[in-house]
Order: sequence, then C-alpha cells, then structure tokens
Amino acid sequence: MTVLASGSKGNSTVIASATTRLLVDAGLSCRELMRRMQLVGEDPEALDAILITHEHLDHIAGLAVLARKLKIPVFFTEQTHRAWKRMLTPRTTMSYAAWLDMMQREKEARAVEVANSMAPAHTVLALMPAGISPGVAPEDSAVDGLSAADAGDVLLDEAAEPEVSEAVAKTKADPTFLPEVEYFKAGERFCIGDIDIDPFTIPHDAADPCGFVFHARHESIRMAVATDLGYVPQNVKLALKSVDVLLLESNHDLEMLKDGPYPWSVKQRVMSRVGHLSNHAAAEFLLRDYDGGAHSIVLGHLSESNNLPELARYAAEQALGDRLSLLGNRVVLAAQNEPLKPICL
Ligand SMILES: [Zn+2]
Ligand SMILES: [Zn+2]
Repeated sequence: MTVLASGSKGNSTVIASATTRLLVDAGLSCRELMRRMQLVGEDPEALDAILITHEHLDHIAGLAVLARKLKIPVFFTEQTHRAWKRMLTPRTTMSYAAWLDMMQREKEARAVEVANSMAPAHTVLALMPAGISPGVAPEDSAVDGLSAADAGDVLLDEAAEPEVSEAVAKTKADPTFLPEVEYFKAGERFCIGDIDIDPFTIPHDAADPCGFVFHARHESIRMAVATDLGYVPQNVKLALKSVDVLLLESNHDLEMLKDGPYPWSVKQRVMSRVGHLSNHAAAEFLLRDYDGGAHSIVLGHLSESNNLPELARYAAEQALGDRLSLLGNRVVLAAQNEPLKPICL
C-alpha cells in the first residue's frame, strides 16, 4: 500500500500485488498524481485499473483525465458512476430574460450563417456577431462541478498532452467520457488480476459509498481502505477482520471541530452518522472491535483545520495499548501534501 495523498484536499492510494496494480480514488489533478507516483517509484503506466469509493471531489478530481491518459478501466458502483456524471454535466437553469436574450443571439447567428453562405470566404470572420468566435463552443464548461482551481488543473492537464487529441475531442463532446467503465456492487466480490476485492457499504453522504478489502491471492495478504464514514457499522466491523494493513479514517478531534472555523451546518455534517470518523470513534473501533492482527494501521483523511497528527496518533495508540509493537499494529499517519513511504509486506 502506498498512500499518495489523504485528506479533504485529495485522496489516492496505490494497492499492488506482485502482478496487479490498482489506484483507489484519484482525488488530485492527474499531473499531481503522476508526480507523486514517480516520487515513490510507482510507474503510472503499470496501473491496471482505478477504483472509486464515492463521487466527492476529494476522491475524483483527476479521475477522467488520468483514466483517459492511461487508457485503463474505472471501477465504480453504477450509482456512483451516475452521480459522478451528473456532477460533470450540471443542468443549467435560466431566467426568462436570459432565454429571450439567447433566442435573439441564436437568431442573429442564423442570419450571419445565411449571409456567410452567400459571401466570399474572407469576409466570414468579419460577419461574426460579437461574442461568438469560430471553433469555440459558448458553453464549454466541462468541469463545472469542480472548484476553479481544480478545474484549471484538470483542463491544464488535458491541454498539456498533444497525443491524446482524439480523447480531448471526445472530452469536448462528453466530459464524462472514460475509456472503459466496469461496475461492482457492495457486498459482491470481484477480481482484477490476482487481487480479490470485497467492496463494503460505508455510511457517508454520497450516492453509494464503499470501502474495500483487497486480498492478494498469491501472497495471501489483505489490505483495507475505510475512510469517509460517519460511524463504524456492523458490516464494516466484519469486513475489517484479519487485515494486514488497514487505512482507517481518523478525521477530526471533536473538541477542535466544535471550536474550529467551520460553519455550524458543516460541523453538523462532519459529526453526523453520514459524515466522518473522529479520532475518538476510530479509537473506539480499535479498542472494542478490531482483532489486533494487522502489521500497520494507517490513519487517514485527517482534517487540516480540526485535527492534529499527534492527537490522532495518541488516540489510536492508547486504544491499541499492549497490542502495539514493532512487529504489529504499527501506527502510521497518512499526509495530505506528500506521499507516504510504501508499506510492503
Ligand atoms: Zn466523502
Ligand atoms: Zn473524502
């Protein structure tokens, strides 16, 4: 397991066996994901597939560009795929005045077209009405669902790659174009290469959010990714039995969240049953439900405003108590701004 990034500004993790490499989420720009993979000696071209936990921006920001660039399949649940598509193609609502204005401009454009069809070629540009330039679609806002900075990143990534011009053309027509999409269902095992994957439902405010347990058949090693969950329900407790590496959310310190800068509505969302796991909740799981068999526990999705790495680590280590040793239950903290050293078993 190599955590490339973890936190509310972007999440992505490489899970690899000897012969299969998977990327779980693509929540940074394509360019940044490639840069981070290179930093830790991961060859992006060696990836076999991308798996998506849910459609929140911090898990999908670089998805479309990366999948097109690498030409690899993306695995979603059908609902997550639909929600993601809706995000990238938002419906626009229009006032009556704006509609009238649009109709008027269309009428003018049609008149220009008729005029152009009769005029010599060199006068075509001069006849274009103001606001319309040739070859540019007026509504070319493919990434409306993203913040301006993310959108800039994503578009830059796409523009920087001349050999994918065919893909760019398709993107212009359909920003949700992916080279290959595969569906999985929570609770139903599927496999990619020699890795068996058990997706499980997590309680979070997205269309159909999932965590994953990965089982490398030949090495007989199990690794799990469980972030973005409001609490730890029974099905998650069961799924996380006998894992060798566990990436577990330890999102916020409750006191820091309550006193912190977020508006009350956001605080309520984070604390809710479909929000994020607090240090305390993660520790409760480690104390009461975790079977103690992992080599490493990676604490992830730490909030930058409402948590401190020392607080998350302290809560987890207290909960693990005597079970903590050099050989087992090593606590590692995943970071937002830099990749974590690969955890190899
Ligand atoms: Zn989320
Ligand atoms: Zn998230």
